[in-house]
Amino acid sequence: MPTFVYMTRCDGCGHCVDICPSDIMHIDKTYRRALNIEPNMCWECYSCVKACPQNAIDARGYSDFAPLGHSVRVLREEEKGTISWKLKFRNGTEKNFVSPIRTTPWDSIKSPSDYDAPSQEALKTQELAHEPEALNIEALPVLSVDKRKEGAS
Ligand code: SF4
Ligand code: SF4
Repeated sequence: MPTFVYMTRCDGCGHCVDICPSDIMHIDKTYRRALNIEPNMCWECYSCVKACPQNAIDARGYSDFAPLGHSVRVLREEEKGTISWKLKFRNGTEKNFVSPIRTTPWDSIKSPSDYDAPSQEALKTQELAHEPEALNIEALPVLSVDKRKEGAS
């Protein structure tokens, strides 16, 4: 479900522009309000929805499973630390979900360029960046030669 912006709610703060991994949230030069310039390229990650302080961004369901008459409303309540999703189907059925907002402070997550470049040795291993520390384990599990033979028989 790609996103769209209610321009009358948007104040042009640009948080959605900064956070969008697909770089499709732009500020309209004339109106100084955000818009999703290419919904087809939306990752549907909803980072923009969660980041918008004005609750100005909603998701538009695809017409095959959410035909005309549906709505998806998102309410971000920072003081309560929650984000609520209200889905309304064409037949009037409603589904409501409440989740906690992640409490990591804005700008506190390091970007890949803030880490040291991997060594040549590290490039030869199967570990991904920051593994195994990022998984909170000492080492990735490894299959012994015997176990591999067992699996093949
Ligand atoms: Fe960008 Fe994700 Fe929002 Fe789509 S849902 S516009 S990809 S931040
Ligand atoms: Fe507008 Fe919300 Fe984007 Fe800020 S985060 S520019 S208020 S849509």
